[in-house]
Amino acid sequence: HAPPLPPADELARGVRSGHRATLARAITLIESRKPAHRAIAEQLLQEILPDTGKGARVGITGVPGVGKSTTIDALGTYLLEQGHRVAVLAVDPSSSRTGGSILGDKTRMARLSMDRRAFVRPSPAAGTLGGVAARTRETLLLCEAAGYDVVLVETVGVGQSETAVADMTDTFLVLMLPGAGDELQGIKKGIIEIADIVAINKADGANLPRAKAAAAEYRAALHVLGAREPHWSTPVLTYSGLTGAGIDELWAQVLLHGERGRAAGAFAAKRSAQQVKWMWTLFDDRLRERIRGDASLRADVPAIERAVAEGTLAPTLGASKIAARLGL
Ligand code: GDP
Repeated sequence: HAPPLPPADELARGVRSGHRATLARAITLIESRKPAHRAIAEQLLQEILPDTGKGARVGITGVPGVGKSTTIDALGTYLLEQGHRVAVLAVDPSSSRTGGSILGDKTRMARLSMDRRAFVRPSPAAGTLGGVAARTRETLLLCEAAGYDVVLVETVGVGQSETAVADMTDTFLVLMLPGAGDELQGIKKGIIEIADIVAINKADGANLPRAKAAAAEYRAALHVLGAREPHWSTPVLTYSGLTGAGIDELWAQVLLHGERGRAAGAFAAKRSAQQVKWMWTLFDDRLRERIRGDASLRADVPAIERAVAEGTLAPTLGASKIAARLGL
């Protein structure tokens, strides 16, 4: 049996005081699907709301092997040296399928996870991408309330999780490998469109010329795309997560992106838009919960899905059938 949960205000006090064990407990509570836990979690989030928003929220993505964990370990350690408190979170939508998270695994960030000034938390394990993203966003708020002034949110560079992370962060960092070439094709092109900063990792040793060449290619591609916002054109940097060379410049660009955005009013506008979008994500999530929570509907959904899959029921009608059962 787990010990009884303290009330929301007591948890909020513990979180605010920066007590690690309470923060971890609060996050576990937030990740719980039990209605009683959700109720306390909602109260807790409301309690800590005034203590949130002060952190720099940075999203980091890139394909497996690009060096995300190496980079976060190096960047995080650099930031701790600068006097920051760093939290690292992860959005790993595959964890619900595989039952384990490859992101945010503490062993991947050796220095950072050993440091008491940092807080590393793996991706929530269960649920849809929307659900995982929502829990991570709530965890981000808890971390801010606990005094972490930099929150790095990691996601793997495949699928839709980048958008989810871009929607909860201020600055979105896309890591790339040296030797771009045909990597500029297809999905990666979409990803550089949402990047605030493109950074070519592994610019060290024999990789250096290829890293510089890749940077030139990405610069040209971004030039063709044109600036997404009038106050910011996406810079392309080269650095090495392994040696740490260029990590300071990487962070300088993150700060500059924040400063320019604040000056242009885009920073506040982005956060407001994110809040509203998040509300709707939560609403969608809640609708799905209703379906899952309704035993008779849950029993009928497979037949509806099958009919839609076989082409005997129009998707529109299928949606109407489910909506009608929920009284919508
Ligand atoms: P992730 O899957 O994106 O988290 O990538 P990792 O951080 O685990 O790195 C994948 C591999 O690339 C590891 O073998 C790292 O040692 C290596 N690596 C990461 N960063 C660098 C770097 O800056 N330079 C070099 N040469 N290797 C690196």
